[in-house]
Amino acid sequence: METLLKVEDLRVWFPARVSFIESLRGKKRYVKAVDGVSFEVKRGSVVCLVGESGSGKTTTARAILRLVEPTGGKVIYEGKNILEIPKKELRKWRKEAQIIFQDPYESLDPRMTVYDTLSEPLRVNKLIGSEEEERELVSKVLEDVRLVPPEEFMGRFPHELSGGQRQRVAIARALILNPKFIVADEPVSMLDASIRTQILNLMMDLRDMYGLTYLYITHDLAQARYMGSDIVVMYLGKAVEVGSVEEVIREPMHPYTKVLISHVPVPDPKVAATRKKIEIKGEPPSPIDLPPGCRFGPRCPFAKEICFKEEPELRWVNGRMVACHLV
Ligand code: SF4
Repeated sequence: METLLKVEDLRVWFPARVSFIESLRGKKRYVKAVDGVSFEVKRGSVVCLVGESGSGKTTTARAILRLVEPTGGKVIYEGKNILEIPKKELRKWRKEAQIIFQDPYESLDPRMTVYDTLSEPLRVNKLIGSEEEERELVSKVLEDVRLVPPEEFMGRFPHELSGGQRQRVAIARALILNPKFIVADEPVSMLDASIRTQILNLMMDLRDMYGLTYLYITHDLAQARYMGSDIVVMYLGKAVEVGSVEEVIREPMHPYTKVLISHVPVPDPKVAATRKKIEIKGEPPSPIDLPPGCRFGPRCPFAKEICFKEEPELRWVNGRMVACHLV
């Protein structure tokens, strides 16, 4: 498969407060939310960014879309570095790359009907010739997200929809500009378990219908396995393991991935009885005061002396990329 998007050494650092004395000494501090993340997204694939909260997965995705300004690195899309393109071209990128947020209730304007929500991006981008054309496009996208008959939903406000219907409208809004690349930021985590699978299946059908590529953010490895072709496991602003979902979940190499996988519930009690949970202590260190060496070191059950001295680089090991001294 051809590469659609390449992320190279992406960094997003936010300035942090310093004490009065430190400011006199000219000291600066940063929250290193994303600190040198690299991975590729193949056209038509679903790349899952996984990790616990604070790992930097959402900031990585937002930096790719330039919803936050990165501190450094590259995002190469169709031969161009998105982080360097002028504002005029940024508008084109924002049409081709859309986002579906976690909470549709917050991401939809409560004062706008479904019709206005969906037609607004068409008007802003001057993509329609006539009212009939606009209505046809809105109608089609509502059918595509299975809100049928479309006429029944066009005049409704967000509070007149169920959670699942609201997320279908949010997906329709992402689709209306006919994008190529979609960031889905925990798109089913606010929904009832009973409708999660329906929305995930819908997203996979839409990928085929629209020729989409997804960057799918989740903390749930079961969802990553269901949706993903590739996985990027993140810990404290770094990618620690990158590879095919099947291989990484079947045989994790990085200790942090092993910990995450050992905690995934197994439905079969016989398999569950043989699965040993790997416990880790404490919370992740502060992204302002990172420990020397491996940033997973203070919690890693396998840490050795070298881990507290040198930071491991992400490198190729048996067809995937891993950042660990012991692999
Ligand atoms: Fe654990 Fe050391 Fe590997 Fe870090 S480098 S994950 S501390 S074994």
